[in-house]
Amino acid sequence: MAIAATETETTSTRAFGPAAALSCRECGERYDLAPRFACEFCFGPLEVAYEFGAVTREEIERGPNNIWRYAGLLPVPDNVAELPNMDPGLTPLVGADRLAAELGMRSLHVKDDSANPTHSFKDRVVAMAVEAARTFGFRTLSCSSTGNLAGAVGAASARAGFRSCVFIPAGLEEGKIVMAAVYGGQVVAIDGNYDDVNRFCSELIGDPAGEDWGFVNVNLRPYYAEGSKTLAYEIAEQLGWRLPEQIIVPIASGSQLTKIDKGFRELIRLGLVEDRPYKVFGAQATGCSPVAAAYEQGHDVVQPVKPDTIAKSLAIGNPADGPYVIDVCRRTGGAVAHVDDAAVVDSIGLLARTEGVFAETAGGVTTGVLRKLLDEGTLDPEAETVVLNTGDGLKTLNAVESGVTATIKPSLDVFKEAGLL
Ligand SMILES: *Cc1c(COP(=O)(O)O)cnc(C)c1O
Repeated sequence: MAIAATETETTSTRAFGPAAALSCRECGERYDLAPRFACEFCFGPLEVAYEFGAVTREEIERGPNNIWRYAGLLPVPDNVAELPNMDPGLTPLVGADRLAAELGMRSLHVKDDSANPTHSFKDRVVAMAVEAARTFGFRTLSCSSTGNLAGAVGAASARAGFRSCVFIPAGLEEGKIVMAAVYGGQVVAIDGNYDDVNRFCSELIGDPAGEDWGFVNVNLRPYYAEGSKTLAYEIAEQLGWRLPEQIIVPIASGSQLTKIDKGFRELIRLGLVEDRPYKVFGAQATGCSPVAAAYEQGHDVVQPVKPDTIAKSLAIGNPADGPYVIDVCRRTGGAVAHVDDAAVVDSIGLLARTEGVFAETAGGVTTGVLRKLLDEGTLDPEAETVVLNTGDGLKTLNAVESGVTATIKPSLDVFKEAGLL
């Protein structure tokens, strides 16, 4: 009997690799690794707590060319690389010398997450949720989405054999709707904004009808959120096992920003990088900037807003991780800032012209905030800096107005006369 019990325990622990428990971010109460997301005592959000074994740079470097090279740092089974998943990650860290020169900076890189399988950073977080859903035996995957998440869930469900049903606000960009629907799952548009969609999903989870559904960003959120740590690991490894001195991260719910900080701290704790200070800067669009507003006013509480911006992937008016974002930015000596839609469009153009990277509006937000904080003297132009592009410009084509230079008859004379040589 005792042996059988031990075996069961070993197997179930292994299903989540080095993850040991869920712990409450407010009161520290610990829970078993189950599909739960809020503390029973204080309603604080739960996150994954680990007991890491020895992890070396060499082991990681020998691993697969995707996020599973960091499996020893994630809540996933040991054999995760063999399971059907989208295998995202190891996206390019572009040495942005021409953009740096234009902005008067010494060292700038763009982490280009448009290179993920469904062209946004969301493949990283969904890959984690898929493994948790498999372990918990869910058959339907779902989410509330500002667009990119719906596509990532649709694709991963197709690959891993889940049914999917995703919820989006009505009026999203066509590219995002097509990318959510093409994989064959259900796509339901809710008449309202993202925060209405989220409320609807919470109701569905509380109802017996949604009991066996895995909502990647609700009841699987603690596992899902850990996927963002892989951005931190990759950036450090791609810089030659070094932390950047400054990093600019977009904020929707704020989860990604807080987990990049968690990833950096883990690398330091495990001795995989030298312990040197880094500053985290958060970026929002002015039309949805509740975290920037709270930061500027010196508040800890984030007042919800009604979003109105072309940066729809970041349009969360009531960001769940807002207060934690402010903590990270203050603790590391960074800041939270916002730029208006005109600056977003202009910055998409700048990044494309100087580096050949076509960013979605979220990348325009981070690049815009980079320029603004340099102008203000908040960012140090001499420090090694990384700016994130988290999505692909092809998904937000309506935001830009680029078009043909001229339309002419197929005649060399006409071409010459038009002064285009
Ligand atoms: C979801 C998303 C983010 C960040 O999301 P968080 O909720 O803050 O983790 C950033 N960029 C893009 C393009 C996204 O789709």
